[in-house]
Amino acid sequence: IIRFSKVSKSFGTAQVLHEIDLNVREREVVVVCGPSGSGKSTLTRCINGLETFQTGSLRVLNHNLNAAKKNLRQLRCEVGMVFQNFNLYPHLDAIDNITLAPRLVRGTARREAEERAHALLKRVGIGDKAREFPGRLSGGQRQRLAIARSLAMDPKVMLFDEPTSALDPEMISEVLDVMGELAQAGMTMVVVTHEMGFARKVADRIVFLDSGRIVEEAEPEQFFTAPTDRRAKDFLSKIL
Ligand code: ATP
Ligand code: MG
Repeated sequence: IIRFSKVSKSFGTAQVLHEIDLNVREREVVVVCGPSGSGKSTLTRCINGLETFQTGSLRVLNHNLNAAKKNLRQLRCEVGMVFQNFNLYPHLDAIDNITLAPRLVRGTARREAEERAHALLKRVGIGDKAREFPGRLSGGQRQRLAIARSLAMDPKVMLFDEPTSALDPEMISEVLDVMGELAQAGMTMVVVTHEMGFARKVADRIVFLDSGRIVEEAEPEQFFTAPTDRRAKDFLSKIL
């Protein structure tokens, strides 16, 4: 349901994506990894139209992203995104963070939206934080709130860009566990992460980017035991 065909992107004269070909099927979990600056965020942001690209084509669900940018709003309802730094609304409590988009964009009634929000908070394990503001939540709780907020729009695809890299080590697993459950429930996911334990356990496929090129794409078993690309080998030897 995501199909990159020869997608290239430059910022000014710097080319950051080189003819990316990548397919993600429904219910698949694809982990994207690679060195800093290799284009992981840029690639992921293309999927919900946060970045444009110059050549090639990209289809996401039934949207054609190379066409003049229309329907981005619809696309972003269908593709949720969770960032490293949470991007929560600091002046709204947990429930209001979750219900804002459904109420404004979907016109969902407050009562219905709030019932749903309570259920989502339970699902991510912070059912007792309904009226807490983000500033009073731990990093792991904030990130789980951010996931709940994304899920409130019933996305068909979820994008995660280093969702645990701003977290203290002891909070990482609580967020990865929620992501693992989401994958288990059949969500289609693209996850930028260096958490190789998660990648090994949850990913269907791992894509390794280097300087804007996909230089290795394999199932976890193959990726970890017998990477074919030298740069992927080097990368793994440094982080494992
Ligand atoms: P990191 O692991 O540090 O998050 P990344 O793999 O996500 O890195 P990107 O953020 O996609 O890398 O960046 C890829 C390249 O594009 C980098 O060289 C970066 O400097 C450049 N770049 C990213 N965003 C912009 C921008 N808005 N304007 C100019 N250059 C940019
Ligand atoms: Mg990045």
